[in-house]
Amino acid sequence: MSFAAPFDNSYAALPPGFYTRLDPTPVKAPRLFAYNTDLAARLRLPEAPEDELAAIFSGQKVPEGAAPLAQLYAGHQFGTFNPQLGDGRAILLGETVGTDGVRRDIQLKGSGPTPYSRMGDGRAWLGPVLREYVISEAMHALGVPTTRALAAVLTGEEVYREAALPGAVLTRVAQSHLRVGTFQVFAYRGQKAELKRLTDYAIARHAPDADGPMGLLRAVCARQADLVAAWMSVGFIHGVMNTDNCTISGETIDYGPCAFIDDYHPDTVFSSIDQMGRYAYSNQPRIIVWNMAQFATALIQQLEDPAQAVDEASQIVHAMPAQIEAAWLKRFGAKLGLSDPQQDDIALIEDLLKLMQEERADFTNTFDALARADARDQFLDRDAFDAWATGWQARIATEDDPQATMQAASPRIIPRNHRIEEMIEAAVAGNTAPFTRLMQALAAPYTTDDRDLMRPPTDAERVPATFCG
Ligand code: AMP
Ligand code: MG
Ligand code: MG
Repeated sequence: MSFAAPFDNSYAALPPGFYTRLDPTPVKAPRLFAYNTDLAARLRLPEAPEDELAAIFSGQKVPEGAAPLAQLYAGHQFGTFNPQLGDGRAILLGETVGTDGVRRDIQLKGSGPTPYSRMGDGRAWLGPVLREYVISEAMHALGVPTTRALAAVLTGEEVYREAALPGAVLTRVAQSHLRVGTFQVFAYRGQKAELKRLTDYAIARHAPDADGPMGLLRAVCARQADLVAAWMSVGFIHGVMNTDNCTISGETIDYGPCAFIDDYHPDTVFSSIDQMGRYAYSNQPRIIVWNMAQFATALIQQLEDPAQAVDEASQIVHAMPAQIEAAWLKRFGAKLGLSDPQQDDIALIEDLLKLMQEERADFTNTFDALARADARDQFLDRDAFDAWATGWQARIATEDDPQATMQAASPRIIPRNHRIEEMIEAAVAGNTAPFTRLMQALAAPYTTDDRDLMRPPTDAERVPATFCG
């Protein structure tokens, strides 16, 4: 039996200083938990029996044509630079060019230790694997750029966290795993030749029209500005926006401690390790600019005269807040039914958010109700809502079909944290029904009518903290 995938590995063709070649560590008894057949077809992967898919996507068997490696990178973690991180528990199997002509990485996560593991065991347990599987696929269905989930495989081994837990491997698919931190490692070491090589590689793969390092910076800033606005508009909190978790492709990556807002408050934090609230919901637009400043700082190290490039790089980074605001206005304007929102509309949006914050109104359900003309019931202070709604109604009076604009901009369902936790608990106990149900509802987030999954958590159900896993 051979798994004839059309691997075409460009990263492995870079010089050895960019990575360490090594195979995943075989596991005891791989068993397929979930497989994304649509995505597999898009990647041009062949069909195969379940046991073979389990062997390949657990790292037990390396498919022909793969060139397994762990990537080197650095990164700022909560603002502090760590000069060497790297894939401590991930192995890039290789790349394929899909049926849509897009090149994508196929990466195992939780596939055993690498030279970059430091104190870690190189493994993952089923909980975070399913959290990432469900949330990344939900983000894709929401229309937010993201890495995707191809497979989840149980390893038949135990992983030790606070307790012994079932081990698992996630197969993650990305337009690439290049991050700000990949550039930072070579900039920090003063390896100009490598930094140049990486920049050329990134331009060819992600921004073929970009003119040199500053062109790449401009393209990535634009993508990240859009991305963060997309997160804000669906109430997503990434939770660990370190520069090693910030992609060049503009895809959301690293679904560790992320979660979606239930009741709205701009200061919301879920991550148990984010004690200062650095990555709180409303800080995300600021943090992405900070991350792009780090990207700019790394990129200019390859230039003959970095000081000369500072002005241009600063200009590009300083343009971001306005770009983010414009993207934010477009998305939140649409959530109010505005097809072409103007600067004046910011106050209208912010007034509603303030009302929602005061009442801790449910973010998703309020905007869904607005799109279906029954938002009044979401508010206890009806007079306050009515006062706001009078101005809003006047503003949308000239819109052709505000309802349609709103319904396309506001999902009915998001992967609520208590549902994710409930799904994990069931899966660990051998019950896959909640996983299947969640995946089904989240695949059609703008049209689903699963009232029970749309419901916010009761106080008893609420799960306020997330962990890195
Ligand atoms: P993250 O916070 O998920 O972005 O991970 C930061 C760094 O820690 C990366 O270099 C990861 O590869 C590494 N890491 C996270 N968990 C583990 C683990 N269980 N074993 C080895 N390395 C890990
Ligand atoms: Mg990471
Ligand atoms: Mg992580």
